[in-house]
Amino acid sequence: MPGAGRLDFPIREVLSQELSGAGFFGFAFLSSAKVCGILKENEADATPWASYLGEGCGGIAAVALQYGEGIYSPPNWAQPYLGYQGAKEVHLARFCRADWYAELKDRLGVAVKATVARAATAGIQLPAPRKWKRLANSRLPERPLAIAAGLGFQGKNNLLIAAAKNGSAKPGFSSAVVLGLLVCPEEIELEPETAQECNPNFPGCGTCGRCISACPTGALSPLGNKFLRERCIQHWTSQDESPPGDIGKARESRLYGCDICLEACPYFFTDALAQAKPGRLGQRLPAAYFRASEPDRIQADLKKTALGPRWISKKSLKRFAEGLGT
Ligand code: SF4
Ligand code: SF4
Repeated sequence: MPGAGRLDFPIREVLSQELSGAGFFGFAFLSSAKVCGILKENEADATPWASYLGEGCGGIAAVALQYGEGIYSPPNWAQPYLGYQGAKEVHLARFCRADWYAELKDRLGVAVKATVARAATAGIQLPAPRKWKRLANSRLPERPLAIAAGLGFQGKNNLLIAAAKNGSAKPGFSSAVVLGLLVCPEEIELEPETAQECNPNFPGCGTCGRCISACPTGALSPLGNKFLRERCIQHWTSQDESPPGDIGKARESRLYGCDICLEACPYFFTDALAQAKPGRLGQRLPAAYFRASEPDRIQADLKKTALGPRWISKKSLKRFAEGLGT
């Protein structure tokens, strides 16, 4: 295509096709100017922005990947501790039964490579795939960015309820998703109206309050839909300190995460066919493994899983499993 210019290539349209092909439940775009506005509104620390966004942010794609039930066998390192009768088990919320964040980044990589390759075929040179930053579980305010992009709406459970892309055979909305961001090094030709095109059609929570009633610790306040982080089991499962007594009791055998409010939600649809290859842990692990292993060992074994980040205290996971008894 001799003489083709960058503007001859519909980058957002092609990227959308490739994101659909990579199996994303939903995605939406936000211009670089709006990204900056949302970051300022959320008072995000300027240092991580720079490292996350780099100098060439031409807008972002906010993406939602629907996760599955995560019924996997425990990993090899847990196997020796399985199997004796009455042995205690610890449980994991669905979003962390495999490393859906790594899966999301892998799929973004596939979509970007295909987009860049299609541009090359059309005689257009887009920045190399490594210059498209793929973020998940980052320090950026991912949920506000996704909502501003039009990816979904915020539920009273303090989570994003994502809208499926048109034409999807899946349910129209789902809160069983992990979020990620693709920072595009080229401007993605976003018209203001397209960024907001879906928002007026989102149903929202309406009068539903099932998550508020279901939460055993009162973390979801009906007054002003406030989320009280210090009352949330999920928050405490990553902390070094032990939770207050009543929250510890309500935690039961949850090692990491809490699905109670999600399970109560009429928008909670997992994808029965979804599979994540990286970091499979399954829904339960033997408590004896944590009792027998030092925090450094636990950190090493969990490294390439959703529980791998160092801010998830391995000392606390061990202490929790020890507290369950034998
Ligand atoms: S994750 Fe658990 S503790 Fe936190 S708000 Fe939901 S139900 Fe309540
Ligand atoms: S349970 Fe009801 S109120 Fe809570 S997030 Fe779901 S739809 Fe909204």
